[in-house]
Amino acid sequence: MYVSVVLFTADLRLHDHPPLRAALQGGRQVVPLFVHDRGVADAGFAVPNRMAFLADCLRDLDDELRGRGGRLVVRSGDVVEEVCKVAAEADADEVHLAADVSAYAQRRERRLRRALEAEGRRVHFHDTVTTAVAPGTVTPASSDHFAVFTPYFRHWSTQRLRDALGVPRTIRVPEGVGSEELPSRAAVQGVSPGLATGGEREARRRLAAWLRSGADAYEEGRDDLGDDATSRLSPHLHFGTLSPVEVVQRAGVADNPGARAFVRQLAWRDFHRQLLAARPGASTADYRTKRDRWRSERTARADIEAWREGRTGYPVVDAAMRQLRHEGWMHNRGRLLTASFLTKTLYVDWRVGARHFLDLLVDGDVANNQLNWQWVAGTGTDTRPNRVLNPVTQAKRYDPDGAYVRRWVPELRDVRAGAIHEPWKLEGLERATAGDYPDPLITLADGLARFRQARGRE
Ligand SMILES: Cc1cc2nc3c(=O)[nH]c(=O)nc-3n(C[C@H](O)[C@H](O)[C@H](O)COP(=O)(O)OP(=O)(O)OC[C@H]3O[C@@H](n4cnc5c(N)ncnc54)[C@H](O)[C@@H]3O)c2cc1C
Repeated sequence: MYVSVVLFTADLRLHDHPPLRAALQGGRQVVPLFVHDRGVADAGFAVPNRMAFLADCLRDLDDELRGRGGRLVVRSGDVVEEVCKVAAEADADEVHLAADVSAYAQRRERRLRRALEAEGRRVHFHDTVTTAVAPGTVTPASSDHFAVFTPYFRHWSTQRLRDALGVPRTIRVPEGVGSEELPSRAAVQGVSPGLATGGEREARRRLAAWLRSGADAYEEGRDDLGDDATSRLSPHLHFGTLSPVEVVQRAGVADNPGARAFVRQLAWRDFHRQLLAARPGASTADYRTKRDRWRSERTARADIEAWREGRTGYPVVDAAMRQLRHEGWMHNRGRLLTASFLTKTLYVDWRVGARHFLDLLVDGDVANNQLNWQWVAGTGTDTRPNRVLNPVTQAKRYDPDGAYVRRWVPELRDVRAGAIHEPWKLEGLERATAGDYPDPLITLADGLARFRQARGRE
């Protein structure tokens, strides 16, 4: 009996899983394997919120495999060594896994290929597992990747997606391949109290509910901070409990403005992945440098701390930063405002902010996080790199009645809607209702002047 190993990485599902499907071809036995990769932990990416969500995902995957006669094998250590060990124990002649884009993942692919081929085993990397359109499939005439979203999206939209695959009916795992215990969410310390639940079943329930009753109104509602009217599918897409191919296909069926706007956002994921695949260094270095001499962790310590804690004195910024700490997730408009405030108003290095987001975000993702930070900082793909978002006018537009601020900044709960976004203007008795809410760290005019000077645009 031939045996294959399937290494699950950012694709923790059974629906629409090309590596698993390929591994089962010809009636093979399969070892479904997940490795707690020491390299990921050493790089500081194994943070509590994502570890807790991951524990949910692995338990759910194991349950689903058991329902089909299989089970999940879990190991810890160096991913290449562990895959080789398991392949040897199971006498597997091939290994299947999803292709990935970061510098780390590209190195892992090369190492895996070398190690497995040296032992006479085949290794297959599968595209369109973690993206709808594979990186490198659409390219402009003069480059290996698109640097601007709009033309990328035009090409992306014309691609015919492969059909989504169903769930295999039975999975037979060879005897004698041992597994560590599955991790448990309860054992992870320091998790945000409002963290979402992981796992493929939860992901599919959320997707179905979203397509039934959320997506149609997405276009009008997506920027409204108080309404919280986005899909919240990002952690599921990050851990791959949902297939991007399937989500794009199912959303695309409803041909209305809401569904179209939602699919366009999904194309941003693929856009950032095709960019990172071609320029892996963009996770840490400016993609298009503006020669900034940013303030750093050392020179702006107090400002950075106030930003992290949600005590900048700008209510919408503080609300978003507190949502991040409480839920391990933040509304997209909040991400834009807090990142603009840190990089442009406080003129702090985008890497400082990106690191803090990665420490807390359940959907924290090298491609999406680093490249969105660069977009906001004006060192990435924004075609208007020097734009600065004004947190007061933005708050009045996207949180007009102050519901979002009231939810996350209890000190301002009793301030009336017309004044809640500028509490420093309150006087007398009304000022007292704002309790010990801090004064602004800096005026917006001063922040803007410093930024313009730094970018040579006085
Ligand atoms: C500074 C900053 C940092 C960010 N960091 C991350 C991150 O680490 N991980 C992450 O998944 N997203 C990140 N985003 C993108 C976006 O904010 C989140 O994907 C979105 O808020 C998730 O909520 P949702 O699932 O309800 O999104 P929806 O609005 O429902 O969108 C659907 C899906 O489209 C994708 N998407 C939406 N907007 C973007 C975008 N701008 N770039 C890439 N994909 C997008 C996501 O997968 C999302 O789940 C970041 C944005 C900014 C400005």
